[in-house]
Amino acid sequence: MLKGKVALVTGASRGIGKAIALKLAEHGADVVVNYVNNAQAAEEVKDKISEMGRKALTFQADIADRTALEEMVDFTKQNFGKIDILINNAGIVRYGTITDMSQKDWNDVVNTNLTGMFNLCQLVAPHMIDQNYGKIINLSSLAAVMNLPASYGYTATKAGIAAFTRVLSAELIEKNINVNAIAPGIIITDMLDSLGDAAEFYKAQIPAKRFCDPEEVAELAYFLCQDVSRYIVGQTIVIDGGLAL
Ligand code: NDP
Repeated sequence: MLKGKVALVTGASRGIGKAIALKLAEHGADVVVNYVNNAQAAEEVKDKISEMGRKALTFQADIADRTALEEMVDFTKQNFGKIDILINNAGIVRYGTITDMSQKDWNDVVNTNLTGMFNLCQLVAPHMIDQNYGKIINLSSLAAVMNLPASYGYTATKAGIAAFTRVLSAELIEKNINVNAIAPGIIITDMLDSLGDAAEFYKAQIPAKRFCDPEEVAELAYFLCQDVSRYIVGQTIVIDGGLAL
């Protein structure tokens, strides 16, 4: 289904990004595997994709660094010739009450989750407009619609991502570029550790009575990358086992 397509997946060394990178490759896409620190994990993802017979390269870039993003986009175009799919997945969470939250934590979260996504969309969109084709998927969160205590920066950026997605989607759909977002509930990744003891509290409230595998989020991302879903525009699709009901 995605044979001949080129995907750039941020934060693809671990967790949801890794699952999406592997899923898109399984369905035929060539993939740039972005990471920030964990080179070995990124190389392992690259090797798995290569074993599937697809082309994959890793690229280290801090999403909060616009110059690094410019280099990553140039690298992708030089090595793969184009960018069809952009998955803005990389994200971080920092917790603190309104009296405790440091300015640095706030800025780190905003610069990574929100400004990084804006910058990468701005760098990739002209290319997608020129080729009159593209799929952009941004990772929001259930935190955008439901209280996640002491997560000021995270929640504000994830709600911002949903709003940004609406605006960008309306601008780009006439260029045959679909922009949508995914809002996961609680997914089994390293980020889950940040919930600590609260994880079990939340699990008891999930109607599905379990957390979600990253592969289930990847299936949704794959659906949004297919042309069969091309009439879905600017949506933030919740995948949460019913937690927000
Ligand atoms: P993980 O913490 O498991 O993985 C984060 C990934 O992002 C890693 O690949 C990491 O790279 C990369 N990354 C982190 N910071 C940067 C940066 N500055 N620049 C480039 N890459 C970076 O996260 P998840 O897989 O759990 O989450 C992925 C996305 O899904 C995030 O946007 C998150 O907010 C969202 N989400 C997750 C939920 C969950 O329950 N897990 C729920 C709702 C939303 P490296 O390995 O090099 O550190």
